[in-house]
Amino acid sequence: MSLTRNTKNVPYYILGAGAFARLGDFIDERRHGGGAALFCVDHYFQDKEALRDLPAKDGDIVVFVDTSKEPAVEYVDALSDGVKARLQGRPPCCVVGMGGGATLDVAKAVANLLSNPGKAEEYQGWELVKNPAPYKIGVPTLSGTGAECSRTCVLTNEKRKLKLGMNSDYTVYDQLVLDPSLTVSVPRDQFFFTGMDTYMHCFESLRGAYRNVIVDRLSLCAMDMCRDIFLGQEDMMSEANRENMMVASYLGGMAAGNTGLVHPLSAGLSIVLHLPHGRANCYALSVLGDFYPEEHAAFTQMLAKNRISLPKGICANLSEEQYDALHQGTIVHEKPLSNALGPDFKNILGKERLTSMFKAM
Ligand code: NAD
Ligand code: ZN
Repeated sequence: MSLTRNTKNVPYYILGAGAFARLGDFIDERRHGGGAALFCVDHYFQDKEALRDLPAKDGDIVVFVDTSKEPAVEYVDALSDGVKARLQGRPPCCVVGMGGGATLDVAKAVANLLSNPGKAEEYQGWELVKNPAPYKIGVPTLSGTGAECSRTCVLTNEKRKLKLGMNSDYTVYDQLVLDPSLTVSVPRDQFFFTGMDTYMHCFESLRGAYRNVIVDRLSLCAMDMCRDIFLGQEDMMSEANRENMMVASYLGGMAAGNTGLVHPLSAGLSIVLHLPHGRANCYALSVLGDFYPEEHAAFTQMLAKNRISLPKGICANLSEEQYDALHQGTIVHEKPLSNALGPDFKNILGKERLTSMFKAM
């Protein structure tokens, strides 16, 4: 095995129903400096009961994250400017991200901008964040992206036509509160689509050229768990399976990073048609049977067993410019494409072949 990168994981987690009740203790441990706690909460919870249990004290700042669209750099800039004005130069004692992948990512990005000058897009890339972010606590309410334990926070940048995160050890959460009771209200389709993100990250990594024994083992384990959740006897959203999905997301998140063919096609769909990540991944895999026959077959079974539908024709009647943009939005992802197909990926995935794949979705 070749030498791995020096790898950072989340140092603390607490897992199980009831974990959310401990959030206040974890925040209180950080309050000694006197700064406010900043809560970035998915807007879904704005008028929900779980919010009453949010351990916010007088002077703390609660912002609701609009997740109707995938997070964009301008959105993160505006949010962090607003928070900075309210903090009046005093660093927060900690930043809490509570929600699905989008909210967990927004909280990570805002935290980086609280201790680093300039705009979000200046940090899209690798190792660009120079100063450590404030202490961060992640509270996932939807499982699958692995955003709770990854070292990135994916942001769209329309101007540059890309989706790219702030890849940095400073982006990693310091503490996770993994409470499966928070996922009970997730709509079934959403649970499936986001859960599938774990499955995809893991098989794309295992089928790729860039390998690492630890990542392989984590991926195999997370995929096994996904097969049990989505093809086993119990309902995919039973209490036990919601906890299993939280664990699979966490394990898969530690393995994510070396994607293959699904994520580039998915990114093209998100940039051009604004399709959300999990659903876009599923459309991508639906036409990748030639490349991933086993995983495609299992995925088709999972869709059927859980009665999830992917209506056909989403790219049937687009303009030539849109097909061009889909091609560009896919082919720009050189690292994952060469991981999957080798250096010849541009010839293997020519415009014609890609366009016919999009038309088949
Ligand atoms: P999401 O965060 O966009 O949320 C999807 C929907 O589910 C939203 O409407 C939200 O309000 C709702 N929701 C969340 N929790 C809920 C709950 N408990 N009950 C009811 N509704 C709830 O979805 P996602 O699939 O978790 O995240 C997708 C995002 O994650 C994308 O922006 C993608 O780029 C990003 N991502 C990040 C990483 C990473 O490593 N940082 C990896 C993969 C994907
Ligand atoms: Zn993903």
